[in-house]
Amino acid sequence: MSAHVHDLVGIGIGPFGLGLAALADPLDDVDAVFLDQRDGFAWHPGMMLEGATIQVPFLADLVTMADPTSPYSFLSFLKDTGRLYSFYIRESFTPLRSEYDDYCRWVAAQLGTLRWRRRVVAVQEAGSGLLRVRAEVLGDGGAVLGTEEHLTRHVAVSVGTAPTMPPALSAAARTAAADPSAGPVVHSGDYLAARESLLESGAVTIVGSGQSAAEVYRDLIEEGSRRGTRVDWVTRSPRFFPMEYTKLSLEMTSPEYTDLFRSLSTERREALSRSQRALHKGISGDLVDDIHETLYRLSAGGREVPTTLLTETAVEGVRRAEDGWALTLRHGQLGTSAVHRTRAILAATGYAPRSLDLLDPLGDRLRRDEQGRPAPDRDYALDTAGQVHLLGTEEHTHGVTAPDLGFGPWRASRVLAQVTGREPYRCEQRIAFQTFGLPDGDQAPAAHRTLQEDLA
Ligand SMILES: Cc1cc2nc3c(=O)[nH]c(=O)nc-3n(C[C@H](O)[C@H](O)[C@H](O)COP(=O)(O)OP(=O)(O)OC[C@H]3O[C@@H](n4cnc5c(N)ncnc54)[C@H](O)[C@@H]3O)c2cc1C
Repeated sequence: MSAHVHDLVGIGIGPFGLGLAALADPLDDVDAVFLDQRDGFAWHPGMMLEGATIQVPFLADLVTMADPTSPYSFLSFLKDTGRLYSFYIRESFTPLRSEYDDYCRWVAAQLGTLRWRRRVVAVQEAGSGLLRVRAEVLGDGGAVLGTEEHLTRHVAVSVGTAPTMPPALSAAARTAAADPSAGPVVHSGDYLAARESLLESGAVTIVGSGQSAAEVYRDLIEEGSRRGTRVDWVTRSPRFFPMEYTKLSLEMTSPEYTDLFRSLSTERREALSRSQRALHKGISGDLVDDIHETLYRLSAGGREVPTTLLTETAVEGVRRAEDGWALTLRHGQLGTSAVHRTRAILAATGYAPRSLDLLDPLGDRLRRDEQGRPAPDRDYALDTAGQVHLLGTEEHTHGVTAPDLGFGPWRASRVLAQVTGREPYRCEQRIAFQTFGLPDGDQAPAAHRTLQEDLA
């Protein structure tokens, strides 16, 4: 084990880990290394649909909101790849998803601190206030070739999220994986690799309500109607609701709204997060309208479009059927059930934070909430010593800023402030025009006291 001691070891090189690496790179007082189990940077390859755009402006790149002069900005990427003028003429704030992936790969290729094919299995105390990060070194096909260890003062964990399915669908997916004759059951995260088999099945049912479900529906309905493949879409949501994108709502992706969110009880936070789904779990309004326009066009001239779109409808069960799958559907308002037959299922059922078991060796050194989940403080530190930091999966403690690409640089700047003991990048503490919570100043007498109480 080399005795070299890093200032920072980053675990996970998705957009949030890569952003931290890019912001750490120019800092002479930060010796850092970043580890990822993958072969190289890859951002949601299964959903790299032609023409899909990211849901945030280009300024939400890896670095600009922390350092607009950074050489690793999206504009620098466009300049370096000869696309700046066409982007300028294009006059759209939102890059293509494939372009964002290319941009991240362009940044990754320039950073000497990234180590791929490293799966971190444990973070332990190493004595003298240091931490030891143990990683498996992976070969082709994920074979474990050996292990390596890194000593460090700080660890930043940005392991992101992994596809998740409700139990009935994940059981069906296992059956389908074991017996391909059953008909494909795949998560949207693997959509592009399964697209052909879904279309060839002749009848696909999409389950889910968000952007991914809508993008897959839009893609399949076009090709499906050409090939005569039936495409149905089932969602529990009361409607195909659009992502909320109005400016005063976007101000909630801010440090001051995070402070309000953090001042609430876990129970209130959970209720609030459920009520805020439209802020980042809906469908872009343009896509909702594009789907309607596509159905309008495909049905012109009285043509039959082989599709059913169901809202308020939960999938209560999935079982093998003679020619594929039988889904038990239940209507949320009517309370009635029906059996829906299909030959393939696309589960656009979202993502859940990846396990943080690799931190278990640190035991009760880490803060946890009532549900035992790691609970970072305002500056994303999981431990009182401020050496273990969590980035990107802290929605339960920080709210809507957690998954937002645009907030990545602010969060990375907070971590680098703790690593360096100074503020290498200025962190705005107030960005919104509105005030979240009640303004300071004279507390009104307990207004809630009833008149009767006063008169009593
Ligand atoms: C299809 C899709 C589109 C999205 N579009 C947007 C958008 O437009 N705008 C927006 O704001 N948000 C968007 N999001 C949400 C969010 O920004 C992304 O999920 C983003 O990828 C989160 O980045 P991350 O770095 O936290 O995690 P990830 O991208 O999941 O990266 C985590 C990395 O950690 C690595 N890792 C995990 N465990 C280990 C381990 N033990 N050892 C080593 N490496 C490990 C993984 O290999 C992975 O590379 C989108 C999400 C999806 C699914």
